[in-house]
Amino acid sequence: MNHIQSKVVVITGASSGIGEATAKLLARNGAKVVLAARREERLQTIVGEIVQEGYEAASYKADVVSAEDMQSLAKFSLERYGRIDVWVNNAGVMPVSNLSELRVSEWEQMIDVNIKGVLYGIAATLPIMREQQAGHIINVSSVSGHSVSPSSSVYSATKFAVRAITEGLRQEESASSRIRTTIVSPGIVETELLETVKSPELRKMADYVRTMSISPYRIADAIAHAINQPEDTSVNEIVIRPTAQAM
Ligand code: NDP
Repeated sequence: MNHIQSKVVVITGASSGIGEATAKLLARNGAKVVLAARREERLQTIVGEIVQEGYEAASYKADVVSAEDMQSLAKFSLERYGRIDVWVNNAGVMPVSNLSELRVSEWEQMIDVNIKGVLYGIAATLPIMREQQAGHIINVSSVSGHSVSPSSSVYSATKFAVRAITEGLRQEESASSRIRTTIVSPGIVETELLETVKSPELRKMADYVRTMSISPYRIADAIAHAINQPEDTSVNEIVIRPTAQAM
């Protein structure tokens, strides 16, 4: 049974990495995907590739730190496809550093994109899903949302927050038994994320970490698995990391 077929799926951070892979995989399984991010040209290229393969996709330029942009993204998706079945809050940044480096603007960026971005995504889509009496919100956290290590304090804090918000949402919405939630916590994945590490102290670590990374399609597969369950079944959390990754 394919429960992905014909679903309308909105994905933030879809211009690269996990978001791009998820959009392509879901489109190939019959979903109508709306790809959002700031880099419009890249979105258009990816949508072009999906459409070229004969599948359905649209792009929308949106910055997740803007609550207004998230509202416009939801409006665009509704106007284009008539409903929103799944909303994937995937956009994220990871400029990790030691707290003693005082890279305050990077702390703020992580809080804005990784936490507020998820909240603005929920604010944009939850009323629509409640009205539809159906929907699925998938939030991308991290293994760093399960444990802290040196240099990842702020990033980890944002990803712990994503898990707390998603679990709270699950409990609140379980009463209506109509809206599903999923937390996806990846380990090291081969994407552009490590390029957001600017701290000179951490750059070497980032290059080393990359050597054990897995394909973003592994995470896309996990997201597809959660979507592909019957409506009465909610996959609430998936932790997925390279076999070689200890922490
Ligand atoms: P990428 O850097 O490849 O993708 C990040 C995406 O987020 C891009 O599409 C980027 O698009 C988008 N983005 C960043 N800032 C904003 C913003 N302000 N508004 C809208 N979009 C934004 O990394 P990944 O694919 O790896 O990251 C996806 C998610 O997975 C993140 O939440 C990350 O924390 C999480 N994750 C990744 C892991 C990894 O090892 N790669 C491990 C654990 C979790 P654009 O710049 O065009 O706006």
